[in-house]
Amino acid sequence: MTKSVYLDYHATTPVDPRVLEAMLPYFTLHFGNVASQHGYGKRVMKDCDYARKQVASLLHAKPEEIVFTSGATESNNLALKGVAEALETKGKHIISCVTEHKSVLDTLKYLEKKGFVVTILPVDASGKIRLDDLQRSIRLGHSGSDRTILVTIMGANNEIGTIQPIQQISQLCKSNDILLHVDGAQTIGKIPFDVKACGVDLLSLSGHKMYAAKGIGALYVNSQLCRSRICIQLHGGGQEFGMRAGTLPVPLVMGLGAAAQICEQELTEEATHLARLRNKLLAGLQSLGSITVNGHPSERLPGNLNVTFHNLDGERLILGLKDLAVSSSSACSSGAATVSHVLKALGRTEEEAKATLRFGLGRFTSDDDIERAILTVTEVVIRLRHTAERLRQKHGLRKRLTAG
Ligand code: PMP
Repeated sequence: MTKSVYLDYHATTPVDPRVLEAMLPYFTLHFGNVASQHGYGKRVMKDCDYARKQVASLLHAKPEEIVFTSGATESNNLALKGVAEALETKGKHIISCVTEHKSVLDTLKYLEKKGFVVTILPVDASGKIRLDDLQRSIRLGHSGSDRTILVTIMGANNEIGTIQPIQQISQLCKSNDILLHVDGAQTIGKIPFDVKACGVDLLSLSGHKMYAAKGIGALYVNSQLCRSRICIQLHGGGQEFGMRAGTLPVPLVMGLGAAAQICEQELTEEATHLARLRNKLLAGLQSLGSITVNGHPSERLPGNLNVTFHNLDGERLILGLKDLAVSSSSACSSGAATVSHVLKALGRTEEEAKATLRFGLGRFTSDDDIERAILTVTEVVIRLRHTAERLRQKHGLRKRLTAG
């Protein structure tokens, strides 16, 4: 049996063998607890400090601004609930966007139940927010729902790959004394991102989207602005500068550090490689005709392609692609058979959304993978379109006969 082609790197990435190598000694040899005062503890403390530097370096941040968490979901929860709780006497209004990940949208729903008021911005046809909309939504009153305290916008979308104009968003936030949180789960390690140059106050990242293990992530917290403006959500031993209690998972931390270093060193080359392969995939699929590419034509992640195939039964599309690991909607919500909220926000109908595939290319994607993917998709799409056409003709004939 040939292995299926994996094109779902937005859902998760394999651990890079170099990352695994960096992790292994910390399971059995250097297994100490960072908090221990003896040699075992001191050794891993020193090594985790190094990993923290590696993660900070990728973001152009300071090591003490990196708080290790279990992943982007936790980082998003800490950022949003933490800021809301800390600043609620200043204001209770938060702004976000309709295409955000559920870990942001559902946290905001929770905050609404706690009395916060949330404005969800729409997106344009390419998936970007409009800066005018943001400007108009900012509330500059003195307290409560009249005062905006936080804007949370993702760096790049996990379904359509659209990159948001974070630097311009940040300028609007800065000039109105509003904190900016960025969900960088799909951004970090894929495109260059400098938290200082972009003026971001908080940023979430996820290990398993950048070739580290599942169960590790980080929250960047701008040290000048934010420490006092975040209430901790996990109480206990006071680890992570008092911002996130719990014993550090040292092997995972070491893996995240190594993964960050590899991303930093190889990002430019990798992005060029991925964009080439993505364009090759697109060219192959375009020859099928009747497709729509979702997301921004150029300001999108280099490894992302999101395509709607017209004139076929979408529900059969994903079922037909047995040798291809792609996603029909966001992996995180695909357990529930709901139509993607991102595609809906772009104006796609339910039928179109069902006939949409998300291709996520990554570090280990080869030309051969892309060629196999084009062949598989082409075969299935042509077959389904023939079936749909036959059904249409049959339906038309039956209508004419009953009318006659
Ligand atoms: N935000 C975005 C944009 C994501 O794509 C994901 C993962 N699908 C998350 C947050 C959650 O990340 P994690 O799996 O690390 O909790």
